[in-house]
Amino acid sequence: MSFQVFGIPVSRGVAIGRAVLVASSRIDVAHYFIAADQVDAEIARASSARDEVAAELTTLKAELPDDAPHELAALLDVHLMLLHDDALVGATRQWIVERHYNAEWALSAQLEVLARQFDEMEDDYLRERKADLEQVVERVLGALAREQGRDPRDAASVSQRDFAGEDPLLLVATDIAPADMMQFKRSVFRGFITDIGGKTSHTAIVARSMGIPAVVGTREASRLIRQDDWVIIDGDAGAVIVDPSPIVLEEYRFRQRQSELENARLARLRHKPAVTLDGEAIELHANIEQPADAVAALEAGATGVGLFRSEFLFMNREGELPSEEEQFQAYKAAVEAMHGMPVTIRTVDVGADKPLDRLTINELRHEHVLNPAMGLRAIRWSLAEPAMFRQQLRAIYRASAFGKVRLLIPMVAHLGEVRQIHEAMKRVQQQLSDAGHAYTDMELGVMIEIPAAAVMLPLLLRYVDFVSIGTNDLIQYTLAIDRADEAVAHLYDPWHPAVLHLLAGTIEQARLAGKSVSVCGEMAGDPAFTDLLLAMGLRSFSMHPAQIPSVKQRVLRADARRLSHALAQVLLSEDPRQTAELAFANLGAATGPVQ
Ligand code: PEP
Ligand code: MG
Repeated sequence: MSFQVFGIPVSRGVAIGRAVLVASSRIDVAHYFIAADQVDAEIARASSARDEVAAELTTLKAELPDDAPHELAALLDVHLMLLHDDALVGATRQWIVERHYNAEWALSAQLEVLARQFDEMEDDYLRERKADLEQVVERVLGALAREQGRDPRDAASVSQRDFAGEDPLLLVATDIAPADMMQFKRSVFRGFITDIGGKTSHTAIVARSMGIPAVVGTREASRLIRQDDWVIIDGDAGAVIVDPSPIVLEEYRFRQRQSELENARLARLRHKPAVTLDGEAIELHANIEQPADAVAALEAGATGVGLFRSEFLFMNREGELPSEEEQFQAYKAAVEAMHGMPVTIRTVDVGADKPLDRLTINELRHEHVLNPAMGLRAIRWSLAEPAMFRQQLRAIYRASAFGKVRLLIPMVAHLGEVRQIHEAMKRVQQQLSDAGHAYTDMELGVMIEIPAAAVMLPLLLRYVDFVSIGTNDLIQYTLAIDRADEAVAHLYDPWHPAVLHLLAGTIEQARLAGKSVSVCGEMAGDPAFTDLLLAMGLRSFSMHPAQIPSVKQRVLRADARRLSHALAQVLLSEDPRQTAELAFANLGAATGPVQ
């Protein structure tokens, strides 16, 4: 039966496909696709893990003391029976054969299916057998985990081609950690649905960077949607339609085709310089998470990288952080790929909703975090780990010998931090000179994402060459709204007068001081804010490559000078969004295709 679930729309467009439920909160396992020629080996893996568990259970039963209650032996028999039941064995095999899931994923997918069937049973005794099934599956997963020498990441890169001709897949999960999103980035999913998260949670950001529709904060999608259900994601309305009727399906397929046509039309703007009607040249830079994203940046017509989120190099590391050499190679690859255009590399911004994996955290002994959003994150983490900070700086400096690199520091709030950064830069320059490594002087910039930094901007500007406004965090910290918490998502408001005041003030003061200023938070990539930011005097935007064409279209239709004249009334308004809509209307070219 068809039904709908609503959430927060975070990445636009329509996606239609079959639901893939991952990572039930019960059992957290690796999810990756295997290549077609690995199917038999994967089935063998699953079956040898099952044999191992069968042997374990049989030994346990044989070794039961004579006086053990006979229910124990009976329970072990039930477990053995479940272990060999075709509803588990055959169906798990089918997920591997048909969907190319790894054994752990296939097993947990089938557990989801069976657990629901148990939940629906009338008979209490049978319903309670669900716990036994979970224990059996956990044992098999344990046996699989004990296997050595496999790196799931090798298989995660299986390409879309391996699935040609199959139904598109949509990912449904309670939540997806940023690290896991990076794995999925290289995979086949055409859309994402999660129970938790807000508009600027990192899951949403990565989905946008992939340019695929996503709805987060649905609260219960992963409970209501079943494996393999047909699902439509309406990334504009924030709706998820499960098991749609043929008429609804046809309507959405039509919308999908329309948006493909629109994208193709916008793609034609790629080589057109982003200049407003009154002749202001606007920089449209790209936000990237890994060097390979530079390709998409160039394809979208980006004229530089405004934000390389280097922390993604530090994820999925299983305890071992990237060495100086590995980082250097990654930064150099991005710099070379951009062919002389500027690349702004942000030092690692871990913590809060971008945690390092558990092994790494344990290794670094930063375990106890009371309030991660306000804790040891971003530059605070780097300054607490000076050897790692210098290692990253060395890698970035070395990459600067291959193109125009700018250094960007996240979450700065104190002048003392800027002084320590300057000292670290000097020391690293000395170390590189001593070691005979080439490097060039880099411009230093700080992110303005804590209100304190915006308020004390004139002081900060004395010590830095440029600033980049991180609106995602600036809004979070100004309004005290956790950006990843769907319960307060309705209060996360970029149009809040306090946010607008900080934004306008930061842009104006940086310009007065002759320092370059850009916005690299999600506002920069949302065409709904292009006029507003132009009116504030912003001339440099950084966003996901997929967003560049529609922002460029807005720029081409805008008259920056006339927009700036309308700004004052927006800033003074009690309802800035509505005032902006009225005040900015008709200040640029009429809508319609820009040639
Ligand atoms: C921001 O806070 O706006 C920003 C760009 O940084 P991140 O989203 O990575 O925290
Ligand atoms: Mg930030």
